[in-house]
Amino acid sequence: MVGSAPASVAPPLDLEAVNRQLAAAAPEDVLKWACTRFEPDLILTCSFQHDGVALAHMLTQIAPKVPIVFINTGFHFPETLAYRDDLVHRFGFNLVELHPVMPREEFAAKHGLDLYARDPDLCCQINKVEPLKRYLVGVRAWINGRRRDQGITRQDVGVVEAYEGGLYKINPLASWTSRDTFYYLQRHGIPTHPLFERGYASIGCAPCTRPVLAGEDERAGRWAGSDKTECGIHTFLERKA
Ligand code: SF4
Repeated sequence: MVGSAPASVAPPLDLEAVNRQLAAAAPEDVLKWACTRFEPDLILTCSFQHDGVALAHMLTQIAPKVPIVFINTGFHFPETLAYRDDLVHRFGFNLVELHPVMPREEFAAKHGLDLYARDPDLCCQINKVEPLKRYLVGVRAWINGRRRDQGITRQDVGVVEAYEGGLYKINPLASWTSRDTFYYLQRHGIPTHPLFERGYASIGCAPCTRPVLAGEDERAGRWAGSDKTECGIHTFLERKA
């Protein structure tokens, strides 16, 4: 079961109290709190966008053994993979790479490599959601880089959130802006994603991402022209509080 907890773990958190305590905390302090409370049963997911990269950099200094999980869908931009390799090499991230359960050849034969154009929800389910779902078994806390200002679907992101199965999501950058993340990278000598300067404000799989236009939401370039706004990894679990 996703997020199922070992018998020996501490009782559920008093979320209201925890969120009061962490509301104005710096992301590094949220990470320290999370590591003290949940290590070794916690992970960070990172798609090598700037938010995940900033968190990976912070976390590597606080708790270098925490897995930094990258879901390799097989559809990423080559620039993202090169950026990932460069940062892992420079900063020693403890990278764990997940792959779709269905082998690429089987996926191509069964669904076609253009499934994203016909049924992006199914494509994301097979290539992103399922691999992560499997990896989350036994995980109690999942750190990620969501921010409230990323768009309408993320306005209610809390610093600590409770989900079905006893899983907690930790969102240390909930109150940051993209500018805060950019300055963090600058301050620490971390390069930006090579596509960022070409207008890609949010970067996912290549076939489903375009640069954003002036005045658009940061995530407007994801699945542009369709109703889809999320890949599904943040929506397959029911939020409890
Ligand atoms: S983002 Fe696009 S290519 Fe990537 S898994 Fe989802 S539908 Fe497929």
